Amino acid sequence: MNLLDLIGNTPQARLRNMTRHLPENIVIEAKLECFNPGGSVKDRPALKMIRDGIERGALTEDKTILDSTSGNTGIALAMIGAALGYRVRLVMPGNVSDERKRICRAFGADLIFSDPLEGSDGAIIHCREIYEMDKSRYFKPDQYNNPANPLAHEETTGPEIWRDTCGKITHFIASLGTTGTLVGTGRFLKRSNPEIQIVAAEPDSPFHGIEGLKHIESSIVPGIYDATVHDEKIGVSTERAYEITQRLAREEGILAGQSCGCAMAAALTLSERLAAAGKSAYIVAIFPDGGEKYLTTPVFSGETMHFADGI
Ligand code: PMP
Repeated sequence: MNLLDLIGNTPQARLRNMTRHLPENIVIEAKLECFNPGGSVKDRPALKMIRDGIERGALTEDKTILDSTSGNTGIALAMIGAALGYRVRLVMPGNVSDERKRICRAFGADLIFSDPLEGSDGAIIHCREIYEMDKSRYFKPDQYNNPANPLAHEETTGPEIWRDTCGKITHFIASLGTTGTLVGTGRFLKRSNPEIQIVAAEPDSPFHGIEGLKHIESSIVPGIYDATVHDEKIGVSTERAYEITQRLAREEGILAGQSCGCAMAAALTLSERLAAAGKSAYIVAIFPDGGEKYLTTPVFSGETMHFADGI
């Protein structure tokens, strides 16, 4: 097996302790994307976008892979670029966690920083400018607009969840960044069983500190976003996402990133509502990455608030 064959087929773990107050007929499971070789869910779309670029002839050996990224896509592109022998250049907001920057550099990627105050949108715009200056030099996967991003999830994440729940899943929850995870996985699951409820977990305000996520209405809306896929959106505050992230580590032994806390907070809100209505449920929430990269950021450093665009 080679490294890239290890992407996907991540395990699903049942949450046992934080769900004790819920009736037994409500189950929450987390799909642990930190088990991907690059440490996050973004390995899947990064691989699909690169393979698609090679197949279309858009990515040739002389080209540099260029993209704007909140970090995890950057890590995935840098890792896959290293494995396949491509140069990688990444534009990211200057306030992305130090760990992420170092990991990308370790894979040999070249980093360009955009204004931290402009968040992920600032990185997108700056990346476009660099690309426009010399298009022939670059292959830009453009994760916000590339159909291969949701397709990666439609072809892998969705079928894995369907298989691992034996088709019994009733609710699927994913947080929103590029929206690829929610849109692609949601499409597959809805096609498999239209009754499955697709739920988006979203920061409840444009100014939030949940790294990797976007407050869609106030951001540049990704071209791949398809608002018809989700049945509902649950807003989560930064404080709540941090609190749940901390509890995941202490009570479940899952050292998770902040967006996992966001998805789990939404799962708890939904479960409590379903329990009050006397309904049963089999909820699967995507946990996009692990907590290691965030150990020096406010979520684990004792501070509770961090007002910045959630990049
Ligand atoms: N959580 C984290 C930590 C991420 O890096 C991302 C990707 N930006 C997401 C969630 C959201 O995933 P997607 O881009 O598929 O919406």
